[in-house]
Amino acid sequence: MEKKEILSKFSSDPERYYKVGLFGEQGFTRKSCSVCNRFFWTLDENRMNCPDHSDDTYSFIGNPPTSKRFDYTQAWKEVESFFKKNGHTSVNRYPVVCRWRDDLYFTIASVVDFQRVMGSKVVFEFPANPLIVPQTCLRFKDLENVGVTGRHFSSFCMIGQHSIPNEQGYWKDECINLDYNLLTQQFGIDKKEIVFVEDVWEGGGSFGSSLEYFVRGLELGNAVFTEFQGDLSNYKTLDQRIIDMGAGLERFAWITMGTPTAYDCCFGPITKNLIAQAGIETDSEVLVRYFTEIAKNLEIHEDLAQVRKNAIKQTDLSEEQINKIITPLEGIYLIIDHIRTLIFAISDGALPSNVGGGYNLRIMLRRIISTMNRLELQFDINEIIDRQIDYLKNTYPELEDTREDVKEIIDIEIKRYGASKQRMQKIVTNLDKEPTIDDLIRLYESDGVTPDYLKEMNVISEIPSKFYSKLSELHQGKKQKEQVSFPLENIPDTELLFYSDDPKEFDAKVLKSFEKYVVLDRTSFYARGGGQEPDHGKIDNYEVVDVTKHGNIIVHELKDGIPKQGETVSCVLDTTRRDGITKNHTSTHVINTSARSVLGSWVWQHSAFKEEDHARLDVTHHSALTEKEVIEIEQAANSIVEKNIPVTIENFDRGTAEQKYGFRIYQGGVVPVKSVRIVSIGDLDIEACGGTHVKETSDIEQIKITKTKRIQDGVVRIEFVSGDGAKEFVKKRQLDSKNKEMEEKLKEQVKEKRIEKRQQVKERIPILVKSLSECKEGISTIEDITMEITESDKANFCYSASNDYDDVFHISLGEILCNNDPRLVYCGLFEDGEKIRVIVYAGDEISKQKNAGEIVKSISQILGGAGGGSPKFAQGGGTDKSKKEDAIKNAKAIIFE
Ligand SMILES: [Zn+2]
Ligand SMILES: [Zn+2]
Repeated sequence: MEKKEILSKFSSDPERYYKVGLFGEQGFTRKSCSVCNRFFWTLDENRMNCPDHSDDTYSFIGNPPTSKRFDYTQAWKEVESFFKKNGHTSVNRYPVVCRWRDDLYFTIASVVDFQRVMGSKVVFEFPANPLIVPQTCLRFKDLENVGVTGRHFSSFCMIGQHSIPNEQGYWKDECINLDYNLLTQQFGIDKKEIVFVEDVWEGGGSFGSSLEYFVRGLELGNAVFTEFQGDLSNYKTLDQRIIDMGAGLERFAWITMGTPTAYDCCFGPITKNLIAQAGIETDSEVLVRYFTEIAKNLEIHEDLAQVRKNAIKQTDLSEEQINKIITPLEGIYLIIDHIRTLIFAISDGALPSNVGGGYNLRIMLRRIISTMNRLELQFDINEIIDRQIDYLKNTYPELEDTREDVKEIIDIEIKRYGASKQRMQKIVTNLDKEPTIDDLIRLYESDGVTPDYLKEMNVISEIPSKFYSKLSELHQGKKQKEQVSFPLENIPDTELLFYSDDPKEFDAKVLKSFEKYVVLDRTSFYARGGGQEPDHGKIDNYEVVDVTKHGNIIVHELKDGIPKQGETVSCVLDTTRRDGITKNHTSTHVINTSARSVLGSWVWQHSAFKEEDHARLDVTHHSALTEKEVIEIEQAANSIVEKNIPVTIENFDRGTAEQKYGFRIYQGGVVPVKSVRIVSIGDLDIEACGGTHVKETSDIEQIKITKTKRIQDGVVRIEFVSGDGAKEFVKKRQLDSKNKEMEEKLKEQVKEKRIEKRQQVKERIPILVKSLSECKEGISTIEDITMEITESDKANFCYSASNDYDDVFHISLGEILCNNDPRLVYCGLFEDGEKIRVIVYAGDEISKQKNAGEIVKSISQILGGAGGGSPKFAQGGGTDKSKKEDAIKNAKAIIFE
């Protein structure tokens, strides 16, 4: 269904879809724009065109249509007091990290706050009716416009006005009445300035009419009436009709201030401060003309570079004015905007990274740095963060709590970027042509090189206008897991015994059995879910090997046969397994809260896995964990275990739970049911969780972290064991350390022996030499050393491979033997820890044909190492002790060839 089709259908019956009470009462006229034919409603008989095509477009810049002036903070106070006066509840903003929706990383509109996805359906849950909310929304599609257009932001405050038409709420007439009164009464805008434009909205299977309202070409808000479902030939009214009015708070402030850009009035004193720091001499007359032209050109051209070029031409700006005023101002606006977005995102638990939503945060931070470098602006980022939070906390007091965390994360990220600069520089200097959009995307994706960096390095002059939207498309989607479908039609929901008295032995009726699967009327077998592995055990005499949940039906997978449909079966759970899993599950919550308290507020559960004998928790954190942090987390966790805190489970209506505990409850992801099960460990950890848990923390007995690892950018894995698993782990570690001790002792003994032997070398070698000169050919053991001697017309060869002797012995012996016999090659091999070493001596005469260095090189290679030396003396070795015999054979082959 095309939006255009809906609009033409609705606009063909304006009485039904658009004409609200106000239009009749006040005498609004409906007109069609002479340029674009869109229909609009106005009280100004002289107005001929829609707001996009009127002469007064953006004429509020430098000449606001109101007598009152409100900045960002004050504008919200005005809006809030107006709606409260008119029976609305003012609700606090929801997090910008959209944890209650699987398909969104960030909150993109105020209505998203109240949408919950159940299966394929979106349902609405409003904490009050009617309500307003100052919802911070993040949008990354138009990143290149930020700072340049005067009105694009990467995050903005959407004034959400929401109502369900029932006893408390209202519908179209009242909505437009309120919005009209807000503009005229509260903000003092002349009623002739207000234009309502007919439009429609469509999405998620429903649609409805909407009225956008403009003042002097600036769209202030859009009242959407979500009303129908179906298609245009056949649609019906929704059970739950909704008013979704979204207005830009930044624009409300802007229209009253009439500053050259929306940034000037929305970032309060911060913009002024940075402009002063940078020493820019702004000329407000020039800026008013320039940004009015920018606004007009944006309606005409798609390409931002073109928009900018035209505006410069139409304002007749000099090169100097561009370089000294416009360009640095654009940079300052960008920096302030991006930092504000980072403050909200990091405060709500998102981290810059190269995956998912974190990816946009990283690119923004890098833009800030590149922009500062390119324009040689030396701002103290911490100071900007402080000023922003000081300003924002009037509306958003919660930002105070994460002030230092935001600074810490940004600081780490800046340092990390600095460390990768050298590598990036190399990549950039190797570029041989002007990169295309695809090249730019590849450069960022594989090497972290942002187009802003290329601009900083003068490789490109402008960032292509589709770059950021293309990039954010690539990173939008989240994959949904596919589930196997079973023939489960007409089977009633399974009674979940593990949520009631949880019997470990029970009888149940077989409702369906097929292939290797069984569905019972009731079960205590926990189905795999939320990272918790399924229960095992027996149904009659069949082993249960897997349990899965399909909607509200639980399917058991059996081994070696299935019972018949209609039978009553006796079921027994493997309680050892269940106990292990349960302890590990509660431990996951304990570790999660411990990690957060040790590391910082940005720690959220990323994913988790709980088996009988081990578990792991992946949490969001910027760096790999240090040994000290691991110890601290383990200590914090065990102190919770020791404190014996009760673990309580309560069921709440989802909306109530969210209001009562906040969105921290969604550690394990989205809860697709109306009633949420809240698992609390005292007030230390409160999570929505469907898993099995111990009664009190001391039941866990002990938690041991076995391993940690940074598994992806921004995520670290903590592997751990608890209960018996922890005890076994400790035992094994003790055993390991005992074994290691023994190994060390053995090594020590060998070493001592060698030292002892070394002292005997002096007295022993003359005896050895004498004996050897007597025995000539063959293998002989003299005292504790075995030697093999071979004589031939080519050469004489002697080798020994005793481990009791070290290099001192072999070198001394080799030297004497070779001095006595100039035709002798001596080879000594001995093990030295993990290595096997080799020493070769060659007598004066033989060394001219058989080079000791060459022999060592060849032997070392066989031993998997390297070595060398002179023709008369060389040493080397390797690590492959199993090749000792081969090495000797090889030496002989060289010598007797
Ligand atoms: Zn028009
Ligand atoms: Zn849980």
